Amino acid sequence: MTLSPAPTLPPVDLSARLADRARRMNASAIREILKVTQQPDVISFAGGLPAPELFPIEDVRRATDTVLTKYGPAALQYSTTEGHPPLREWIATRAGITPANVQIVTGSQQGLDLLGKVLINEGDVVLVESPTYLGALQSFQPYGPRYVQLPTDDHGIDTDALEDVLRANPAKLLYAIPNFQNPTGRTLSLVRRRRLLELTAQYGVLVIEDDPYGKLRFRGEELPGLYDLALEMVGGDPERSHVIYSSSFSKTLVPGLRDAWVQAARPIIGKLVQAKQGADLHTPTLNQMIVTELVHDVLPRQIEVVKRAYGERAQDMVARLREYFPEGVSFTTPEGGMFLWVTLPEGIDTTPLLAKAVERKVAFVPGSPFFALGGGENTMRLSYSSATPEQIDTGIRALAGTIREALG
Ligand code: PMP
Repeated sequence: MTLSPAPTLPPVDLSARLADRARRMNASAIREILKVTQQPDVISFAGGLPAPELFPIEDVRRATDTVLTKYGPAALQYSTTEGHPPLREWIATRAGITPANVQIVTGSQQGLDLLGKVLINEGDVVLVESPTYLGALQSFQPYGPRYVQLPTDDHGIDTDALEDVLRANPAKLLYAIPNFQNPTGRTLSLVRRRRLLELTAQYGVLVIEDDPYGKLRFRGEELPGLYDLALEMVGGDPERSHVIYSSSFSKTLVPGLRDAWVQAARPIIGKLVQAKQGADLHTPTLNQMIVTELVHDVLPRQIEVVKRAYGERAQDMVARLREYFPEGVSFTTPEGGMFLWVTLPEGIDTTPLLAKAVERKVAFVPGSPFFALGGGENTMRLSYSSATPEQIDTGIRALAGTIREALG
């Protein structure tokens, strides 16, 4: 049989066929920046990666073997959307809630996306810290929120300003990172935590507490989380709480297994389950089983190891900043987590400064992408989590040189 030649198809304008939602998405400014800074001889304080030399590789190997033996094919089978029951049980017990209040997600990044999907209508007012986690803005953006920025200082969100904002705006949601915030490393004070909860409850505003770093406190006193405080303030009933909690095993164990969770009242969890069914059916079964195997012994030990290392690195970086940075430059002194925040004198823009710094073989992330509505041109984020003392000394010295030159 001879086939007649295939007819030529007319071109279809693909970009004209994109959804409005897709049009609202934009490339992560940081991803673009990281490409420039990933030259092998550049000391990078730009990335926010957990320290790979601390990963418990042997424990993960052993746990993988154990779960394959223990569960056989079930470790490789489809499983429930809500998550591996023993893992949900472990999380619930620790939080003083029931497994029905826990949804396992594929990285807390997925949790943020699913929460955006089930909570944000186009035009809804979403309150965010100024600055805030860029990845959350990326997750929420496709759903069309209207952001209002909340002023912050060294103790986190300014709750007096929050009250003014709530009076002036019909807000739906407040997104906050109370512990060792990404990008600033700042922590919300206890007094303000209580005030934030009272105000948001009074105005009927849901709170998303994003807490990937809370267990990584290396200095100072532990503070109760917003979720825990709210639970206490509603008599221990998770169904009455207006706080949704998001956390992750990425920073305490390993990020590559993509295991994280959301805690919330049942109606919210129920919607997350439906949204997750549409997204990926469930978080990988094997990964959840591996994490469950590790939470009892390896996780607490690992948290100590990571805390000690990050605490030393943070202290070291702060000491070098004090030693080398010129007058007029200020920086945060984090009590945990992976980041600190530098503010240069007004008028100095850190975006062009990055190119100059890379010439001197050091990199940082300019601060402005972390502001939902712009601003912060004179700020930068530095990560100390995977830097050696030599890199910190050489890198901060080079960065100080770049800043001095810009200051003239
Ligand atoms: N929230 C914050 C504040 C983060 O810093 C990160 C990771 N950089 C995430 C969420 C996402 O983490 P993961 O998806 O690995 O759990």
